[in-house]
Parts: sequence; structure tokens; C-alpha cells
Amino acid sequence: MTSSGSRGHRSHPSVAELVSSARELRTAAVARLVSLVEGNSPQLRAVAAALAPYAGRAQVVGVTGSPGVGKSTTISALTRAIRQQDRTVGVLSVDPSSPYTSGALLGDRIRMLEHSTDKGVFVRSLASRGRLGGLSAAVPQALRVLDASGFDVVLVETVGAGQAELEIASLADSTLVVLAPGAGDDVQAAKAGILEIADVLVVNKSDREGSASVVRDLRRMQSYRAAPDGSWATPVVQTVAAHGGGIDELLAAADGHFAWLRSSGGLAGRRRRRAAVEVEAIVIDRILAQLATQAKSTALDEMAEIVACGEIDPYSAADRLFPL
Ligand code: GDP
Repeated sequence: MTSSGSRGHRSHPSVAELVSSARELRTAAVARLVSLVEGNSPQLRAVAAALAPYAGRAQVVGVTGSPGVGKSTTISALTRAIRQQDRTVGVLSVDPSSPYTSGALLGDRIRMLEHSTDKGVFVRSLASRGRLGGLSAAVPQALRVLDASGFDVVLVETVGAGQAELEIASLADSTLVVLAPGAGDDVQAAKAGILEIADVLVVNKSDREGSASVVRDLRRMQSYRAAPDGSWATPVVQTVAAHGGGIDELLAAADGHFAWLRSSGGLAGRRRRRAAVEVEAIVIDRILAQLATQAKSTALDEMAEIVACGEIDPYSAADRLFPL
């Protein structure tokens, strides 16, 4: 196994011990498990195996939208509302910047300070991209840690737009897409297909001028789309997250969607989609790691040389690197 025994029991609790402490929602144990995941620890397989029996119980809610629309403010307000119902909350803020810089989402850490002494709340930021460039396998695995630890609700914050962010949204049972008047992103959001992934549309900053017209635009766009019988009618909820306005309604809408998923049988499909993203992220990480090895990068250099001079085509070169 690993060197866990060499430095004494106290500094290196076993995976089983960590998992059992995390199951009591002990912050230090949950944080340590997320760090193992983030650091791609050799203990990861043991962690994943120990967590597997407990996974799949949390209600996972994705919160996405352009920068500045009020996602972190909304998450903080939602966390407060969920705690008032005595449910526990894990929050993962997925940072779209490179893994080497942290802090794009530091604002939410500050906003989440009011929850920092609450044992029923766990907050963590993660990079969306792994060191090698693909969607970080750490994101779905960190979600798995929070889910298996027993948090009732896990909120996953992403900045909407890129492919990695859309993939992260597909980890959630329900996706809340946050818009705000004046952000100029309502029509763009529709173009980017963000509306397609929304289970609840949130018009935040409804204290600002223009919010009624954002709601109207969204309703009009919805009316263009044929909704098959029995499908979920995506609600549009207006909020003033900064003052907690509309947050209870938003939580009720998210809970309503989750209840609908359960009763309609749609939950199993979402869970399979999440599992597919998890496995895919691990496979991609593995391929990227192989490409980064000395042997493969030397081979890639050689291939590049003969492709560049026209000796072979790039597909044949790829076949030689990674035989099908
Ligand atoms: P994020 O980048 O989407 O996470 O947005 P933030 O939550 O950081 O919010 C961006 C700014 O909008 C901050 O200055 C918030 O205080 C402000 N804000 C958030 N919600 C509201 C709201 O409902 N009304 C108004 N007027 N401002 C808000």
C-alpha cells in the first residue's frame, strides 16, 4: 500500500478512518478526502472504493451563469435557506481558471464566511481543468466525496459557457441557470445552449430595471419550444439574492424539480449521465497522462517530424501512438 504507517497513526489516518469521520461530516476529514482527490493521490482507488456504497443519496444542484450575475450570492442565500430547514449543504465552486492560479471565485469564499463555523456546511473551490488540460477528474470525484459523506444537498457552482462547464453541469440532478438584467447575456445564453440545460431559470437582481423584460424574453423563448406531455416545465424565478428575496421560491423550485425527477423516473437517467462523466474524465486523464510520459512525448516528436514532411498522415501517426 502506501507509506501511511510510517509517520504514525495520528498524522496519517487510514482511508477507512477518514471515510468514517467524513460520514460524521467532520470538516477536516471531508477536506482531507477532497485534497486526496485533488492531488490525484495513489490512495484514490481505495477512497473511491470506500465511498462507493454511500454515493447517490445527495440532491445535487448545479448553479451556473455568467460572471457577476450573482451566483455566489445566490448560493450563500440558498445555503442559509437549506440550513433553516435543517438540511446539510456541501458547496463546490468550480474555478474555470488554470489549476495553477486559484482565486477567480474567491468572492464566494468571502460571502460564504457566515457559514464557516457551521458544521452542517462544507465549502471548497476546485479548478475545472486538470494539470494536463482536460476536465479535471477531481470535480466529479470531489462531488462524490461530498455526496458519500452524507450532505443532504450539494451545490456545484460553475461559470457557464465553456465545454468543461457544461460537462460539470451534467453532473447535477438539477441545473439552475442564473441571469441578470443588464448582463446582456440573455440572448447569448440561449445561443450557447445554456437554456437547454436549465431546469430552473433564475432572474437575479430583480431589484434592477430591466428584470421584467428578461423574464418576458425567457418566457417567449420557452414558448417557441415544444414541450412533450409530462415533461418538466422550466420555471422562471425572480430573485434579489443580495437581500434573500425570492430565495425560498427558488429552493422550492429546485426541490420541486428533484421531486419530479424522482416521481417520473428521470433521476436514474441523470445519475447514469453523471457516472458517464465520471468515468470519461478518468479515462481522458489517463490518456493525457500517457501522452505526457517521456516515451510518448518522444514518439510524438518523431511522428510530428514525419507528418510535417508528408511521410505519413496525422491519423496514421495517431494510430501508431495510440493503436485502436
Ligand atoms: P457571481 O460572479 O455570479 O458569483 O456574482 P456575485 O454573487 O459575486 O455578485 C456580483 C455582484 O452583484 C456583487 O456585487 C453582488 O453584491 C451583486 N448582487 C448579487 N445579487 C444581487 C441582487 O439581487 N441585486 C443587486 N442589485 N445586486 C446583487
